Amino acid sequence: MSKKSQLTYDDIFAQKFEEWKRLIPREAHSVLESMRPSFQAIDEKYAPLYTHASPNSSAKDPSFTTSPLKSAYDIKDKLDAYVVGQHDAKKVISQVSFYHASHVQREIETGSINEDYIKASILLIGPTGSGKTLLVNTLSRILQVPFVKVDATSMTKTGFVGDSIQDAVRELYYITDGDLAKAESGIILVDEVDKLAGGSWDDYVSNSVVTGKGVQQELLRPMENSMIDLFSQTNINSIREMMRGGDMENQKISTRNILFILAGAFEGLEDVILKRLKKERGHSIGFGESVPLTLNDVSLDMVKPEDLIDYGLIPELVGRVTYTVPLERLNAEKLYHILRDAQGSIARQIENNILETTGKKVSFTDEALQTIAEEAAKFQTGGRALTEICYRIMNELLFHLPSLEIDQYTITPEFVKNYLAMTYHLIIQPHVKQALRKFPFVAETIDWDKTALDYINHKLIERKIVSIHKYVGDFLTAWAPIIQRIELEQSRVVITGEVLELHDTHTNEANEQIYEVLKKNKDLSRFTIMLQGSA
Ligand code: ADP
Repeated sequence: MSKKSQLTYDDIFAQKFEEWKRLIPREAHSVLESMRPSFQAIDEKYAPLYTHASPNSSAKDPSFTTSPLKSAYDIKDKLDAYVVGQHDAKKVISQVSFYHASHVQREIETGSINEDYIKASILLIGPTGSGKTLLVNTLSRILQVPFVKVDATSMTKTGFVGDSIQDAVRELYYITDGDLAKAESGIILVDEVDKLAGGSWDDYVSNSVVTGKGVQQELLRPMENSMIDLFSQTNINSIREMMRGGDMENQKISTRNILFILAGAFEGLEDVILKRLKKERGHSIGFGESVPLTLNDVSLDMVKPEDLIDYGLIPELVGRVTYTVPLERLNAEKLYHILRDAQGSIARQIENNILETTGKKVSFTDEALQTIAEEAAKFQTGGRALTEICYRIMNELLFHLPSLEIDQYTITPEFVKNYLAMTYHLIIQPHVKQALRKFPFVAETIDWDKTALDYINHKLIERKIVSIHKYVGDFLTAWAPIIQRIELEQSRVVITGEVLELHDTHTNEANEQIYEVLKKNKDLSRFTIMLQGSA
């Protein structure tokens, strides 16, 4: 089993908490420690559900414990309160899940199985942080069914593919405290399925036993209808249960009524659609079609099953998908709405939480929310960036407020801007780290020193860089081979601000200078980016 899939929410929170601690002076650690429970409460609510949500947790929230759902509109209405935008996705999800929930209910009431029922599966296509997980998690809370999210990439890494998807099914059973009927009507979100497409992913995991296509194959049976043993020798929960004396040897869980939702960013899918459109146009001879098609003519809602197959999904898996729904990238305006209007918005939570822990009233001005949204939009990680930025702000406030002799504090755009300038590094680091994953052959031997992070920071503030990911990716695409060569002579290579600046000048002389600087940099005393910890 991969390290990732073994991490519990508590582990991840503990890691994050340690990261926060590093940001503040040692003397203040005890203050932060005293606030740990409040942080954790907020994190639990807002972190994108690292592994699962228990159906029981929704009992705390009155909006979910209402009378039986009467229609798909009912579900959509409730989703609207939590999820901003993404109307097509909310509509499809509401319809499919209402129909499905009614079927499950009928089966339970009549005690008989409807053999003719065909279960729908949904594929959500949308960039990171556009609300895919939030959508499915909120749905599960509305329906009061258990929900498990599983990362498709972890399945390739483990080498035990079958077990991973089966573990997700078993997890439904454990989070319902062994309520089999409830577990069998749960929801499983398989995220990052796009990473299972062939091509570069296969190369990336070439040292793994399992390829993306193999994992896709393994998804088919559970998605349709299979009986899965509750006990597995490699599943920690089942071992625990066994040790507690539970008799699970012959128990099975049926996936017949488990709703499977697949999700992924599918970067580059537009190119695939464009290729198809061009081909189709080539076949149709008509007048007035001389203007060549470009990516501007393409949108994700034009996607067809053959595009997904062309992208690298296997036809059998595409065949299982009943609805493919794109989600839009959240722009600054939508992010602002999330902060202002979404039920349980992180800004409102911060206000409540600070009031509870310090007795002081903090409020964001409308302009401050707009500034946060604009800053978050630069990171191209959708709602995730909002959460990251808001955490940093909350961290700062919780640190300083208790010692200030004021009862009210208003967060202005200036506060946000000043504070963010200092904290960009914290956001930059995980992004650099993530971008490095695409270059596994050099990732381990490169250090990015403080001047490099400063340089990226400035570029971000000046809006000369839109995506850190892309920037680092472009740099490494150009330089990774050279870096590899230098590594043969010396073990590590340090990327400095000077190197990045030279790189950005795009001249031939600069290229030679970079080579020299990279070679020289080996002796720098450095502030290196942490390659461990959570991204
Ligand atoms: P994805 O699964 O698409 O990568 P998530 O659903 O995990 O994204 O989103 C991360 C966080 O961003 C959520 O927990 C939520 O706080 C916020 N968020 C993202 N999209 C939306 C949205 N459409 N409406 C409200 N909040 C959102």
